[in-house]
Amino acid sequence: MNLLTQPKKYKSLMKDQGSRAIMEKTITFFEKMGKERLLDDFNKKVWYREFVDFIGREQIFAKLLTPKKYAGGDPDCRWDTARNNEYSELLAFYGLGYWYCFQVTILGLGPIWMSPNEKAKQKAADLLKKGAIFAFGLSERAHGADIYSTETALAPKGDGTWLANGEKYYIGNGNEAEMVSTLGKIKDGTDDYCFFVTNYHHKAYELKKNVISHQEYVANFALHDYAVTGEDILSRGPHAWDSALNTVNIGKFNIAPASIGVAEHCFYESITHASNRMLYGLRVTDMPHVRKNFMDAWLRLVAMKMYQRRATDYFRGAGANDRRYLLFNPTSKMKVTLQSEEVVNLLWEIVAAKGFEKDTYFAMAASDIRGPSKLEGTVHVNVQLIRKFMKNYFFSPVEYAPVEPDFSSKDDEFLFNQGPTKGLGTVKFHDYKPIFEANKHLPNVATFVKQIKIFVDMLEKAGPDKAQDMDPSFSLPLGEMFSIVVYGQLLLEQAKFDNLDRDILNQIFDFMVRDFAHFALLIYGNHGARDDQRAFCREIMLIKAVPDPEQYNKIWEQYVSVLNGEYAMNEK
Ligand SMILES: Cc1cc2nc3c(=O)[nH]c(=O)nc-3n(C[C@H](O)[C@H](O)[C@H](O)COP(=O)(O)OP(=O)(O)OC[C@H]3O[C@@H](n4cnc5c(N)ncnc54)[C@H](O)[C@@H]3O)c2cc1C
Repeated sequence: MNLLTQPKKYKSLMKDQGSRAIMEKTITFFEKMGKERLLDDFNKKVWYREFVDFIGREQIFAKLLTPKKYAGGDPDCRWDTARNNEYSELLAFYGLGYWYCFQVTILGLGPIWMSPNEKAKQKAADLLKKGAIFAFGLSERAHGADIYSTETALAPKGDGTWLANGEKYYIGNGNEAEMVSTLGKIKDGTDDYCFFVTNYHHKAYELKKNVISHQEYVANFALHDYAVTGEDILSRGPHAWDSALNTVNIGKFNIAPASIGVAEHCFYESITHASNRMLYGLRVTDMPHVRKNFMDAWLRLVAMKMYQRRATDYFRGAGANDRRYLLFNPTSKMKVTLQSEEVVNLLWEIVAAKGFEKDTYFAMAASDIRGPSKLEGTVHVNVQLIRKFMKNYFFSPVEYAPVEPDFSSKDDEFLFNQGPTKGLGTVKFHDYKPIFEANKHLPNVATFVKQIKIFVDMLEKAGPDKAQDMDPSFSLPLGEMFSIVVYGQLLLEQAKFDNLDRDILNQIFDFMVRDFAHFALLIYGNHGARDDQRAFCREIMLIKAVPDPEQYNKIWEQYVSVLNGEYAMNEK
């Protein structure tokens, strides 16, 4: 059984024909284009005109990104996080650049669907139908993550309109987006944040350059006395600020599936290459360390997919009284994206020179895969965010109604009504312990539970002091350890729904135990750690995973080695 996505034997998670058709048409589009052309376009950094035309012709973004209310009766339209995640994985399977066009369209639409401006929403729905792409104009060159320092300004003209001036940097699709949701401040004495719509056709919109060297367009644009009327204003004051952060919440969750898609395609190429290469009269995959890398890569990939799948249910089930997604989201963002880098690293150690060849997907992926962990909040920013939930997660669990797998065709409306972004420290979680207890018959889950107990003991008896809390070099590995627990919890929850082979699960927890020990070592070696903390870390570090060679070999034979030749993209 193949647990990875295989486009040529595609199994959509969606039940409706309309959604399945979107996936199938997209696969046909790329397979018809062929790998030679796909890579040539990437290497020559050609803007994906044909792709944008295809998306428009088939109304794919219109169907995926228009809430029912604005769909004009098209039954295929809805904003469904599970479906968008599935589509992201598929697009990135063929190239992260294509996914990026989808991603920044999602971001651009965020402040629009969150806005009370009905005219702007209707306009967005009409443009989507016509095949438009969108953009999110938040970042400025000098300010990075610090959006408080936004310099783009709207000066009132006195007649209820404004003139916008400023410069934006790193804005995807900024070359062709029909609506750019742009963040500025209103200079009428309030300094209110404001989201307003700009358009690349406008003569006061100067498209300066593509900031990066890639087929995707990441724009630097400037506004020179750009006339803004009430119809262009999406939100103002706290609503605009919340729209910025809440939009990033939506976009952030769409990044992990992309990194999964990239890693999957690399996996197929790598295993097919290595399984058919003979060195010293031996098949490369017969070397134990090569096999180990493949096993580790595959197990990590399966875990990434399971975590993301389960987190999606919490995302779709979120509401004012259930904001657990605010933890599961940054965990997805930092953990799954870093895991995809790890998978590609493990594979690259095997395929070595092959990974440089210009006619491989791998060479493209190897340069792109470092991106997802850094966009829409770096790993640092997300780990710092995650830490805010740690106390309630471990020490104040509450009961929630069970969250079932959700493949319904509803709109995820709450995402456009997430409300104020503060109060993260008040979010409560269901108890993580029962699902671990229920799987303790698996030796590596039992081992992982031992590590968690020591970690929680450390938090209780030797928790970080104020100085350590303020020092990210200490608090980051601590946050990483917390995130592994969350990761383990959700993937165990998903394993139950999937009825996953218990042997796979036990082997997944083999690397989880190793990873947990690794971060304990980082805290141990931190110059700011105290002796009492080091004692706990030493205990965690010295716990090792339980080997089971028979089980390991079974998984290699039954699930991993059989992926040799399972998928290859059409050459032409
Ligand atoms: C290819 C690409 C596409 C992009 N697309 C868009 C887009 O479409 N629209 C858009 O608006 N932006 C976009 N961006 C901008 C992107 O979101 C920013 O790069 C990102 O927010 C981080 O900013 P920065 O890279 O300037 O890092 P900086 O903010 O300058 O960070 C510098 C360092 O400080 C650390 N740091 C910063 N704040 C904190 C904190 N609170 N806690 C701990 N550490 C912290 C960071 O981790 C980093 O190591 C894009 C960027 C790229 C490269």
